[in-house]
Amino acid sequence: MFYYHGTGVVPITNYGFVIDNRRCIGCHACTVACKAEHDDPIGVNKTWVKYIEKGEFPNTNRNFSVMRCNHCDDSPCTDVCPVTALWEREDGIVDFDTERCIGCKACMQGCPYDALYIDPETSTAAKCNYCSHRVDSGREPACVTVCPEDAIIAGDTENPETKITETISDQEVQARKPEKGTEPKLFYVDGDEGSLTPGTTAREEHYMWSDAPSSIEVQGGEREDFDVERAARSLAESDVTFSSARGPAKEDTRTDGGCACGGSCGCGGNCKCGRDDTSLASDGGVTSSSATSQTEQSTDNRNGRMERAYELLHEEARRVYDIGESHYMSWGWEVYSYTWTKSISAGALLLPALLMLTNIIEPNAGLLGISALVSGLFLGLTGLLLILDLEQPQRFHWVLLRPNWSSWLVKGAYIITAFGGWLGLIVLGWLLDLGVFVHPLALVITTILATATAIYTAFLFSQSKGRDLWQSPAMPLHMFVQSLIAGAAVTALLGLIAFDQLIAPSRVALFGGLIAHVALVGSEIFTPHQTEDAEEAAARITRGRFSQPFWIGAIGVGIVLPLVALVAGASAPLIGGAGVLALIGLFAFEYCWITAPQTISLA
Ligand code: SF4
Repeated sequence: MFYYHGTGVVPITNYGFVIDNRRCIGCHACTVACKAEHDDPIGVNKTWVKYIEKGEFPNTNRNFSVMRCNHCDDSPCTDVCPVTALWEREDGIVDFDTERCIGCKACMQGCPYDALYIDPETSTAAKCNYCSHRVDSGREPACVTVCPEDAIIAGDTENPETKITETISDQEVQARKPEKGTEPKLFYVDGDEGSLTPGTTAREEHYMWSDAPSSIEVQGGEREDFDVERAARSLAESDVTFSSARGPAKEDTRTDGGCACGGSCGCGGNCKCGRDDTSLASDGGVTSSSATSQTEQSTDNRNGRMERAYELLHEEARRVYDIGESHYMSWGWEVYSYTWTKSISAGALLLPALLMLTNIIEPNAGLLGISALVSGLFLGLTGLLLILDLEQPQRFHWVLLRPNWSSWLVKGAYIITAFGGWLGLIVLGWLLDLGVFVHPLALVITTILATATAIYTAFLFSQSKGRDLWQSPAMPLHMFVQSLIAGAAVTALLGLIAFDQLIAPSRVALFGGLIAHVALVGSEIFTPHQTEDAEEAAARITRGRFSQPFWIGAIGVGIVLPLVALVAGASAPLIGGAGVLALIGLFAFEYCWITAPQTISLA
């Protein structure tokens, strides 16, 4: 393949990896070579080997899967990185530069494969970069060179004469989560479902040689319970073809020189691949590790698959060796606090501006000035929380000075900077007794900036491809509604203190906002979701470990009580009290919404 480069037509190079699971012996040479090559500290890995065991003695086998960055053709990590610390090279390698990274962890939310981690020595993101320094000097990645079984094939996927292209076209290969649209270039021959789809195996407390390493505990979270029902459903809906009875063990077939693959691996039935021809579909081409293709099957067949999946999970698939999960809760209290303070900041000015613009209340420079002051206070808190969340807080200004314009972190930073500047002008105008900011044109500008501040985070979350629940198309509207509620709470309190004219409209806005909030929570949490991960995150909010903050905090305190108060009376203290309760409820909702999806395993 060729493309035009300005100086002429040059060949396209697009590097990728194939991991041949028939050859991998799980020796970890690739892991060690990678750590040595990059001088990585203890506890983090750019590549690692996951062990899955199946069966019961003596019919057992162990599957190895080498995990790493997929060097996606459409990489969400490079899109969301605000400072181009990650980028796609012209040869298809997704590279990174620790010197540019600000440690915002957006890439870790964007990557659906848990390929990135925060390096404890540099406090910046890191991942497999295909040993780009070696490639530039004509050498292969260190893991390829060291593998004793030639199980890792690296090369140009556009060149028909390379071994990698030959392998991809001759063998059935699997890729992880192709439905994410990231176009991963890490392919597995004989990919094991239990390894490639994280939800199908439990993260045990003890591994085969040691306690499980756990960044979960290091980061203050709790270990997740294994949801066997979800795992069974995922396995039953995958493209794996189950044998009706337990098949022969791989190790057995390796030692006697033959296997039960029936020639499906291309060997003519006499190799040592250990593959059971009933164990995987063999229609060739790239298959999804989690694609659903069972819709045409009969109910009986589906029930049978579920039963067999339960059997496999209960009796066979066990994750016995892995690394700590890097993705877990990379956005913590700073982020759900920031979305809350940002809602208050945007709403505190948005609602008064809207009320003046629509002539529901008289334009009032003093009210606008005080609203801008409150808004500015919460915007300052928002900025502080954003900086606190960075692993490299001293580099925060690089978001503005070294922008990657495809990232909503950058767009958001410019939006809140513009909003902050506008707030300053409104306050200044109020102090200088200028009435210019209650002019309709100025109120329109205020409304636009406040709305943009309220909703931009929804687009940032939708760039977080690793978190399925955040892909809700209703999020921008929901964030706008949350800002209206927060704004109504602030105006209700201002009405209680000094501005009588705000009391009645605050009551209406709060009531309407809460009703819309209920409808949007219902549509985002209770309606069916498109993926298992989103379904599971929603289930953890409504029935799992987040159910108390959700039902008591977000729904009870945040919606039911304020609605009852608003219906019960129209006095200023009652409306102000309802506003405070609504703010508490919004905080509880942000906590659940931002934390629950991050507890879903991606590795
Ligand atoms: Fe690698 Fe993940 Fe980025 Fe894909 S999204 S290129 S797997 S870090």
